[in-house]
Amino acid sequence: MFASLSDRLTATFKTLRGKGRLSEADVDATVREIRRALLDADVALPVVRQFTAAIKERALGAEVNQALNPAQQVVKIVNEELIGILGGETRRLRYAKNPPTVIMLAGLQGAGKTTLAGKLGRHLEKQGHRPLLVACDLQRPNAVNQLQITGERAGVAVYAPEPGNGVGDPVAVARQGIEHARSQHFDVVVVDTAGRLGVDAEMMQQAVDIRDAVQPDEILFVLDAMIGQDAVATAEAFRDGVGFDGVVLTKLDGDARGGAALSVRHVTGRPVMFASSGEKLDDFDVFHPERMASRILDMGDLLSLIEQAEKAFDAEQAQAMAAKFASDEDFTLDDFLQQIAAVRNMGSLKKMLGMLPGMAQMRDQLDAFDEREFDRIEAMVRSMTPLERRQPRIINGSRRARIAAGCGRSVSAVNDMLERFGQAQKMMRAMKSGGGMPGMPGMPG
Ligand code: GDP
Repeated sequence: MFASLSDRLTATFKTLRGKGRLSEADVDATVREIRRALLDADVALPVVRQFTAAIKERALGAEVNQALNPAQQVVKIVNEELIGILGGETRRLRYAKNPPTVIMLAGLQGAGKTTLAGKLGRHLEKQGHRPLLVACDLQRPNAVNQLQITGERAGVAVYAPEPGNGVGDPVAVARQGIEHARSQHFDVVVVDTAGRLGVDAEMMQQAVDIRDAVQPDEILFVLDAMIGQDAVATAEAFRDGVGFDGVVLTKLDGDARGGAALSVRHVTGRPVMFASSGEKLDDFDVFHPERMASRILDMGDLLSLIEQAEKAFDAEQAQAMAAKFASDEDFTLDDFLQQIAAVRNMGSLKKMLGMLPGMAQMRDQLDAFDEREFDRIEAMVRSMTPLERRQPRIINGSRRARIAAGCGRSVSAVNDMLERFGQAQKMMRAMKSGGGMPGMPGMPG
């Protein structure tokens, strides 16, 4: 699922790499590409419209972000908007004050309701509940038996109609199931209902009758993510016919294009609560919009890298540095120290670089980089007097010997460091006359 959408989005972001600034034409081209990718993934048109409008507005807008380059900013915006259309926060089950909590499953035949009942039962049991599955799908031959087998595998109790007692009347079975739960102290009841191959008035009426009989605390609409564009219409039909509180997406392991998953929340106004991704009982999880978004963006840990860069970026310090640039003051060893501290603040450089996609080839170089080099430079600068740091010119031979002794290094190491600093200072002066922003001059490595 989402493979093609992921590829397309990644390719779009690539075209932005290396750009210092995004022109309106860049934003337009990017938004157009994203729009095409979403439409090709079967995302519903109103969702695509809202999504792309938001991206465009934010990318063009005044969201000046000094910590991120334009390509990173676009990734960040797309990620946040994706999380938004997927529902933002994870919505958890609501339990009734007076047990049992009744959860009713609705959806088309083959959507995965019966399978889900077992998965949900097991999930609830792991959470410390005592669930009961009630077999109200009396339409499909063998559905009751299938639920019994699923329940057994999941280690969860199943209530099924006894031969001769309520056979053929799902509403009666639902009522008996709740009674059974109450008398046997089950605290959550999962009611499996019948579906049809397509939306059908009779099926909808049956679901409504069961709903009215058991008054569920939660109605979950089970949606096969593989049905593509039909998903939206089906979801709307169930919302208007029976109503539901949340959606369960099934078959996310399939190779569908993902449109249903991305559209259903926006179109129905109901959150996706669970996701099923296989036939095994454990292929099931609470739905996390954030995780789904980063899976779609397929950016490895790039997103956490972006977060870290933002956290480490000290706007005040950058402003002070910029002010210094505007003035006639020279770049000093104190500034040099500050810049090293800013880089270190971002966490282990090696780890950071390792998070970037495509960095695997650079592993050797990364491994050769010794972060202790920062310690050594810091120790040397700290062995200098404040005057020496401000006016490195005065550091003559005897001062060098004193500094070397102070930090436990050789004089030639101090010479090296001062040489590097001299280059950095020169670069800064050149940039100042050229008017550019400082990068990280003179970094060892
Ligand atoms: P129901 O008619 O809604 O009760 O649907 P079932 O639970 O009987 O599921 C229909 C078919 O889909 C069965 O063959 C299940 O094994 C399969 N199925 C259910 N959930 C998933 C899933 O998440 N992934 C995959 N690949 N198959 C699933």
